[in-house]
Amino acid sequence: MMAKIQTPQAVRGTQDMFGETEERFAHVVATFERVRRLYGFKGLQLPVIEPTAVFSRSLGEATDVVSKEMYSFEDRGGDSITLRPEFTAGIARAYLTNGWQQFAPMKLSVHGPLFRYERPQKGRYRQFHQIDAEIIGAAEPAADVELLVMADQLLKELAINDGVTLQLNTLGDTPSRDAWRAALVGYFNDHKNALSEDSLARLEKNPLRILDSKDPTDRPVADAAPVIDDYLSGEAQDFFGAVTAGLDAAGVAWTRNAALVRGLDYYRHTAFEFVTDRLGAQGTVLGGGRYDGLIENLGGPATPAVGWAAGIERLAMLIEQLPVQQLEAMIVLENDEGLGQAFALLRQLRQAGISADMIATGSPKKRYDKAVKQNPAAILRVNEHGYYGFSGEDTNSPLMNFLKSLAA
Ligand code: ATP
Ligand code: MG
Repeated sequence: MMAKIQTPQAVRGTQDMFGETEERFAHVVATFERVRRLYGFKGLQLPVIEPTAVFSRSLGEATDVVSKEMYSFEDRGGDSITLRPEFTAGIARAYLTNGWQQFAPMKLSVHGPLFRYERPQKGRYRQFHQIDAEIIGAAEPAADVELLVMADQLLKELAINDGVTLQLNTLGDTPSRDAWRAALVGYFNDHKNALSEDSLARLEKNPLRILDSKDPTDRPVADAAPVIDDYLSGEAQDFFGAVTAGLDAAGVAWTRNAALVRGLDYYRHTAFEFVTDRLGAQGTVLGGGRYDGLIENLGGPATPAVGWAAGIERLAMLIEQLPVQQLEAMIVLENDEGLGQAFALLRQLRQAGISADMIATGSPKKRYDKAVKQNPAAILRVNEHGYYGFSGEDTNSPLMNFLKSLAA
């Protein structure tokens, strides 16, 4: 007897999307593509694989992403390659590789799959997808404002802004951030015995992360920690003031969250997250900030930059009402002799921008019922004499006018 072959399973933390799940996903991407064009952001297509150093050098060895979440491997030539865990570092790499300095400031956007070795749960996958927008080479707070206004409009166009709040913080310029960091390290060292084990490890590597610890053990100490406001230079204060004034002028609602630090080391000045309580523990749908030091870390010239990324799956889950995805016209073929006529008509409809399909199999009697089930705006009957009639609401829609012009 032959051994039963086991069907392969999908890799843990990956998804096969179809039907409504896929339609939600596609709706997020299409809306992003439309909105980013409204704001004059150019598109990018980038490699999924990068040299490992692109991420380790720019994100920092101490970050969760680099220290435990990357999919890295040696390729057959012996080079260390990583499946991108985020977009920003790869965009910065492309900026340097291609000498895009000449085009600065650049407004760029990209979307696609990312890979992180995390514990899969609702809203958290090992292959997930992001939309991402960046402005590279702009030092002014106006760039931060524009990105936030765009994010706000995107959430409104997806109709998921209800219950989503923009939380905003400043991490200051480098001197402010360094002084604050030193104060935090001193403070947390004085309260070591009240910190969780995870936070004790963070204290060594990434002390700012203790501030946004979700462990209840850490909350009292974290909530009473020194705040950035006491360490902000005049320049950093002005910068943050210009960002909040711009948001107010544009009518974008925000709240201050002094504990918001973001996971990656390269942030300066503005840091922000759009947060919801509708996704359980995975409440951050969109996050970003200013990363003026990143391109320099990669060996490039000092280059100011700011950007954000949002998880497509998380945005897709929040959508309540999907736009209807029905075919506009359905052809019912009444006999096989009419197949040529049906092909010709289908082509005409589709070339006129009308979505159309046909039902040409199964018992001729049942074909009409099958078409009705799909609920198209119009059903057209076709036989060997051609197209001879349609049913559907007699409106002045482009579809009906086109059908009438065919009939005439
Ligand atoms: P979290 O705190 O949820 O781990 P993060 O700080 O690691 O988020 P970023 O690196 O800022 O997330 O990525 C931006 C966005 O990408 C997140 O707000 C989220 O919407 C999405 N995202 C991040 N990791 C995942 C994942 N593993 N699965 C699905 N979406 C993700
Ligand atoms: Mg994470």
